[in-house]
Parts: sequence; C-alpha cells; structure tokens
Amino acid sequence: MDKGKVALITGSTSGIGLGIAQYLALKGFKIILHGLEDKEYIKNILENLSSMTEVLYLKKDLTKPSDCRELVDEGSDHFRRLDVLVNNAGMQFVNPVESYPLEMWDKVIRLNLSATFHCLQRALPIMRSQNFGRIINIVSTHGLVGSIHKSAYVASKHGVIGLTKVVGLETAKENITCNAVCPGWVYTPLVEKQVIARAEKEGIDIEAAKLKLLAEKQPSEQFVKPEDVGAFVEFLCSESASQMCGGVYTMDGGWTAQ
Ligand code: NAD
Repeated sequence: MDKGKVALITGSTSGIGLGIAQYLALKGFKIILHGLEDKEYIKNILENLSSMTEVLYLKKDLTKPSDCRELVDEGSDHFRRLDVLVNNAGMQFVNPVESYPLEMWDKVIRLNLSATFHCLQRALPIMRSQNFGRIINIVSTHGLVGSIHKSAYVASKHGVIGLTKVVGLETAKENITCNAVCPGWVYTPLVEKQVIARAEKEGIDIEAAKLKLLAEKQPSEQFVKPEDVGAFVEFLCSESASQMCGGVYTMDGGWTAQ
C-alpha cells in the first residue's frame, strides 16, 4: 500500500490509462484522472474510483502545450504534491507514408511525444522539491520496432524512448526515476478501431480479426491486460525500483523477442 502518494495519469478515462488509475487507486494512491471527456460522460468511472480513493478529474487537450502545463499545475496545486506522473495519453492514425496527412502527423507527434515532454518538464521541479518522483512513459512495442502505415506513431514512440533515457540520466543521482513501458497489443478503443477496420477490409468477423492481429505480431496470441500494465507501473513507483533509471521494459507476449 502506498497511501497518500499522488499520481497523475494522462489519458486515464479509457483503456490502459484507466487500468493504471484503477490499480493505483486500489493500492491507496490519490488519483488525478485526466482525459478529453466531459465529467458527465465519465460519471461511472469517477464514482468507482472515488469509492477507493481521493480523485480529481481534469479535462485538457494535451496537443496544446499550455493545457499540459495547466494539467500538472492544477493537479499538483489541488493535492499540494505530485509523486507520480504517468504519460499515457496517445493516439494512432494509420496511413501509408506518402499520403500521410500532414495535420495528422503533427497531431500524433504533439500528443504522443511533445505532451510527454511538456508534462514531465512541468512535473520535475515539483518532484525535486519533494525529493521523490516517478515518471513512467507508456510507450509501445512501436517504440522499439516499426510497422507499416504507422509512421507518426512509430516515430513518436521511438522519440519517447529517447526522451526517457535522457530524463533517466538527468535524474539518476536524485530520488526520481524515469522509465518507459512498452506494451504489445492491449484490447482498448485504440486497437478496437484497427480490428474493426481489418474485419471490414477482409470480410471477417471481429473475433477472427482479433486473432489475426495477434497471430501476426504477438507470439502469446493473447492481449496484454490494462491491469497488468497497472501492476507493473505500481512496482516502478516503489522504493524497490529506485535504481531503474531510464529503462525500457516490454510487456508484449514476445512481440519484440522475435
Ligand atoms: P485509448 O484510446 O483507450 O485511450 C486514450 C486516452 O487518451 C483517453 O483517455 C483519451 O481521453 C486521451 N486522449 C486522446 N486524445 C487526447 C488529447 N488530444 N488530449 C488529451 N488526452 C487525449 O488508448 P489506449 O489504447 O489505452 O492507449 C493508451 C496509451 O498506450 C497510448 O499512448 C498508446 O499509444 C499506448 N499503447 C497502446 C497499446 C494498445 O494496444 N492499446 C499498446 C501499446 C501502447
């Protein structure tokens, strides 16, 4: 139990981020929940989390640097500290490189890469003043390997791994760590869109499309669960993980072991 520590998880109204928020709430962390949705839309999520711990919800568009800074400032002002920052918010857009729309390239880079920089830049002085901090960047196997039609996503995720290493080094002598977690396929709305597109394109049902997607990349042929990512994040927040500085950790059913 880590009672009283405050964790900000970006993009935590859905998928992996929500899994992390639920896991940390269960372990006694206070939660700064964040997403793009109105409060009314995520009422059930807020009720569930509030039954476990103290929760603050902030709606911010992290493609804007000012919103990234406001998120960290408003969250840490509310709880008067910030122990954990999980940079998780992200998006995918799939298209061959030569016709990849410029506005989508910019948006994916702004959200997946630049928002990670803006949020952690704002969080670091707060963590330094407390002499404790854990920064965890939710990357992807696509931070380590490529896949066709995912130029912006793969470039952004490789970029976050580079950023993780630099921040891991810059904080190595302090009680602050920065690490990257690289999940393989996790069944969330982000992946569901890709499964539906594949089922439509190949004229197969959703279950068959899921299996094809897994069989192509992930040798375990099973999805990673959001709560398993949450459990690993909790470990990275612990004292036992104090020497994990600038590391890159896969949870991918063997995808990148091939
Ligand atoms: P998701 O689509 O379920 O959730 C995305 C979250 O990001 C939501 O909370 C949404 O509100 C928020 N968000 C979207 N656009 C935003 C914006 N402009 N500003 C602020 N917040 C915004 O996605 P997910 O699958 O849970 O993915 C979460 C992270 O994990 C992403 O960084 C993704 O790249 C990464 N990831 C996902 C998978 C997977 O298989 N699902 C695998 C590896 C890594």
